[in-house]
Amino acid sequence: MTRRILIAGNWKMNTRRAGAVELAKGIVAGVGDEPSVDVALCPPSVYLTVVADAVAGTPIGLGAQNLYAADDGAFTGEVNASMLTDVGCRYVILGHSERRAIMGETDQQISEKLHAALAGNLIPIVCVGETLEDRESGSTEKVVETQLRGSLDGLDDARAAGVVIAYEPVWAIGTGKTASPAQAEEVHAFIRKLLGELFGDDVAGQMRIQYGGSVKPGNAKELLGQPNIDGALVGGASLKVEDFMGIINPA
Ligand code: PGA
Repeated sequence: MTRRILIAGNWKMNTRRAGAVELAKGIVAGVGDEPSVDVALCPPSVYLTVVADAVAGTPIGLGAQNLYAADDGAFTGEVNASMLTDVGCRYVILGHSERRAIMGETDQQISEKLHAALAGNLIPIVCVGETLEDRESGSTEKVVETQLRGSLDGLDDARAAGVVIAYEPVWAIGTGKTASPAQAEEVHAFIRKLLGELFGDDVAGQMRIQYGGSVKPGNAKELLGQPNIDGALVGGASLKVEDFMGIINPA
């Protein structure tokens, strides 16, 4: 089963308009016309349109960092899937650990967002991952399983193949501490097995599972060389063209 690598830049709440355009243009130039991997850029929502213009006509996909699972209406401050596709998004990150921890997003809400994303023809990138406390108490698999089962609730086999999972151990995000390739692969293999139980081995074999957490040029190749690691969700290192290209190129 060959799964195409997906390298996605999660810009989080960073950049300003001019810098966002410059960064996107730099990546467009670096990636060229026929990259051997899929590349996505996920800027803050207010800059989606300018980044959409910068990547128009290139193989680079645009992604949002969140959505609200409702049709148009009285939801002050929110943005829905239809708006995201309208401005050119192909992907949407859902259930990032920062949203789970800071905004209190629950697995139930994430599953609602997942269904809204799929109904809107967006490719969801569903994030899961344990805290340091979870890992040290030996509950990594239990936590990841609960998040996955909850966040993917109601997902049917036919649609599951197009969903991307991002395994991001919270203790490795923005900390400079990366999971070792073996540590990451162990959880990725566990996730693949669980996806097999949920959707069948054939579908699980088609689903991409990204790793995220302090991915940088120096560790990307080895991480991406693991059998069950199909890409990277990159935070800090996606904010500089040379760092992001240093992750894309060896991939
Ligand atoms: P990081 O963030 O690469 O800065 O650790 C990854 C993420 O949160 O998606």
